[in-house]
Amino acid sequence: MVVLDLEWNRGYDKKPLNEILQIGAVRVERLGGPIVGVFNACIRPTVHKKFDLGAKKLPDLGAFKSSHTRFPAAAEAFRTWCAGDRAFAGWGAGDVEALNENCKYWGLPPFEAEEFFDFQRAFAHAVGADQQVALWRAVEYCNVPDVFDYHSAVNDAMYTAVLGAWLTPEDLAWRPEPSPPRGRRAALKLSPLPFPRQPRQKVGPCRTPEDVLDGKEGRTPSCPLCGQREGIARWHFSVPEAGMPQRFYAVFTCPEHGRFLCRMILTQRPDGQWMGRRTVPGAAPELIREYAQALDGGVHVCRGGGGRRRRRRRRPPDHPG
Ligand SMILES: [Zn+2]
Repeated sequence: MVVLDLEWNRGYDKKPLNEILQIGAVRVERLGGPIVGVFNACIRPTVHKKFDLGAKKLPDLGAFKSSHTRFPAAAEAFRTWCAGDRAFAGWGAGDVEALNENCKYWGLPPFEAEEFFDFQRAFAHAVGADQQVALWRAVEYCNVPDVFDYHSAVNDAMYTAVLGAWLTPEDLAWRPEPSPPRGRRAALKLSPLPFPRQPRQKVGPCRTPEDVLDGKEGRTPSCPLCGQREGIARWHFSVPEAGMPQRFYAVFTCPEHGRFLCRMILTQRPDGQWMGRRTVPGAAPELIREYAQALDGGVHVCRGGGGRRRRRRRRPPDHPG
């Protein structure tokens, strides 16, 4: 069995490719068995000009930029290393699809997985969790020493393979039934007060997604009861299986009315500019679940959101010539 993990970058341009920056994999001969082979390729990015929010935070970003290996060479080396093994596993689904999307882009034949085992889904079943468990949390739960950086594909593949020891064939075969979790609203301590349906606020257009999330306009939603504007210091987002995160969640507090959940949806316009649509929806179970998932995903800390205000000096108008 090949336990696979990838790091990729979606960029901010119109080329719809999750460009793979790293292929990491380990081989095990049985579920939870010892690691008998390791594959690691750092890949030079050539498709997108910019790195998205997730890619910018990868610990090995420097190694990708300075790598001399391009995707076709890395993919062929990986194919050789797989040596015909068609049973793949990963933390979450979607890595084989992402790999094949890149193969298609470069005109290479796809990897044909006979089986794919989603260890994340199986782990949720094994421990009785009612939502997806982040890799680091599972590692912590199982008391596996976490001496290597996360979000390095080869390390994450290794952690995933080790966690296989906690899984049974029954866990691997399990499929979840959708059921809204109860009681999260209480855990979040959201305001129990009902409020009228809130209008959507347009934010932008801005040059980058960060500008939408960091700008004063973007991070000051209003209390749905009194209209008082409150500040947001950080946005949480689920790391999608493909593409860059587009839904961001935050909690803000009105001193008088309590805590509210706020959602921002980012879209890119045809001219490349970014728009945000911000809402303060009612605390429906679906929203609470999305927020809980985002808490296990990534965090965007707002620049300038720390309350320290800088006075800007007015610049004289530019002189032509
Ligand atoms: Zn209020």
